[in-house]
Amino acid sequence: MRTVAVLGATGSIGGQALEVAEAHRDRLRVTALSAGSRLDALEALVRRVAPEWTALERADDADAARRRLEDAARAAGVRQPRVLVGVGAGARLAAESGADIVVNGIVGAVGLEASLATLARGARLALANKESLVVGGPLVRAALARGGSLVPVDSEHSAAWLCLGGRPAAEVARLTLTASGGALRDHPDWRRATRDEVLAHPVWAMGQRITVDSALLFNKGLELIEARWLFDLDWPRLEAVVHREARVHAIAAFTDGTLIAQAARADMRLPIQLALSWPEHWPGLTPALDPRDLAGLSFEPIPAGRHPAFDLALAAGRAGGTAPCALNAADEVAVAAFLDGRATLGEVPQTIARVMDAHRPEPIESLAQLRAVDAWAREAARAAVARRA
Ligand code: NAD
Ligand code: MG
Repeated sequence: MRTVAVLGATGSIGGQALEVAEAHRDRLRVTALSAGSRLDALEALVRRVAPEWTALERADDADAARRRLEDAARAAGVRQPRVLVGVGAGARLAAESGADIVVNGIVGAVGLEASLATLARGARLALANKESLVVGGPLVRAALARGGSLVPVDSEHSAAWLCLGGRPAAEVARLTLTASGGALRDHPDWRRATRDEVLAHPVWAMGQRITVDSALLFNKGLELIEARWLFDLDWPRLEAVVHREARVHAIAAFTDGTLIAQAARADMRLPIQLALSWPEHWPGLTPALDPRDLAGLSFEPIPAGRHPAFDLALAAGRAGGTAPCALNAADEVAVAAFLDGRATLGEVPQTIARVMDAHRPEPIESLAQLRAVDAWAREAARAAVARRA
């Protein structure tokens, strides 16, 4: 029996992780749940899952929230519920709950601390929170060198993980990640796309931020940075292609000329399950594709100049150091402004560009340094949004 903590349990990844755990009750037991601010939703999950540990990051009334979550756990049969409320509660739950595997389904750079806390106690990190690697890649690698393990949940990285099969980077000639192209792939004027158009992703149902990032192909830029740290590959060996059918998720080319591709239905429950079952493959909730489903697939280059947010992400990835931290923070603010109706979609890359023009990247030294860069970039992005509004 493996015990599992699900961080970001009220979100898209978190909900699907719970579904996978419920389908494998004989091997997985969810012992801890965390969420950002949705107390009602978390309370309902506590009743359903009966975890020993619960964490809520933000509450209007912390004492009242704690009481409600404790009552829900007791009602579900937990004798000694442990409830953490307040900033950093998710990372504390990752550190203290003792779960064998921590699924990090938190959205945003705020998820980095929980990733580091998981690795610091030698547990397995099932990582959906790509921002952990985008923002703090060197810190995550350093933590991994000391202990713990990481299995990626992001679908392209889960696919690449299988393709690469743990072989050293020296044997890899190229890693290709695929992109479906997002909601605006056929839009005549993406800069003026509406919120509803942007949130209607053709392939994946995901949280709002990643769906907006996918429409801009910014998400694919983040994913290349994620792959750079996850697989220790340098930039010339990393690329992304548009693959509208979204059946092949990654392709690894080895130096001897071997090409290994992974193909599966677009269903996040598969990579989530693999991160929980690894190194085993368990019967899943996702039927395999038929090889005939692979007929007529298309792979195209990402059109140059059409996706400024993708270009900005690549430039930040190549610059390295604190650049991806500033990039990500600027995007979080700009995407929130777009979702709130305070900015057009076209203004998202413009805001990021403003922040990146003003940022002087430094080598990454510490979490405290990253927090400071993150705060600076958020403030700079807010000012850029406000100036335009
Ligand atoms: P989501 O918005 O659906 O859920 C985010 C979760 O994070 C929620 O439970 C929320 O309560 C929690 N959260 C928000 N702010 C928090 C904070 N300050 N502290 C603690 N928890 C907080 O997002 P999602 O789509 O599930 O994405 C989660 C992560 O997984 C992101 O990094 C995303 O890029 C990555 N990812 C998602 C998918 C997908 O299919 N949804 C696929 C690949 C990667
Ligand atoms: Mg992905």
